[in-house]
Amino acid sequence: MESFIKLCKSNNLKITPQRSLIYKELVASKDHPNAEIMYKKVKKTFPAISFDTVYRTLLTFSKIGIADILALPGEPKRFDGNKKGHYHFRCIKCDNIIDINDSSNIIKIPDSISQKFDILDSKIIFEGICDKCKKVN
Ligand SMILES: [Zn+2]
Ligand SMILES: [Zn+2]
Repeated sequence: MESFIKLCKSNNLKITPQRSLIYKELVASKDHPNAEIMYKKVKKTFPAISFDTVYRTLLTFSKIGIADILALPGEPKRFDGNKKGHYHFRCIKCDNIIDINDSSNIIKIPDSISQKFDILDSKIIFEGICDKCKKVN
């Protein structure tokens, strides 16, 4: 919450009760919700809030570095409140996206890329079948 307040202030973003709640709900969600799911959660507390407001707030969060966007082809954007560097595993059966907190550097950036560009971030999603879906088979 402290870094949330700090980042809002340094980006001239007013800290409203709605924004605070959207942030809290996002951090509490470990399942990388899309804007629709976030909207339903926030609506319980603020029935008058619009989907657009929630969606735009999430986009603003990602712009100022509070949240991450997980863009998957053919799917609505999903949001991630976990800003600690981590990898993702996505189950192709149940669509779950699971955080993998592994501090080992799995992917080494090739010299041909790092010499040419300033790499700020990398997003890695492993895909496969999760342990729950494996049991069902
Ligand atoms: Zn699964
Ligand atoms: Zn994540």
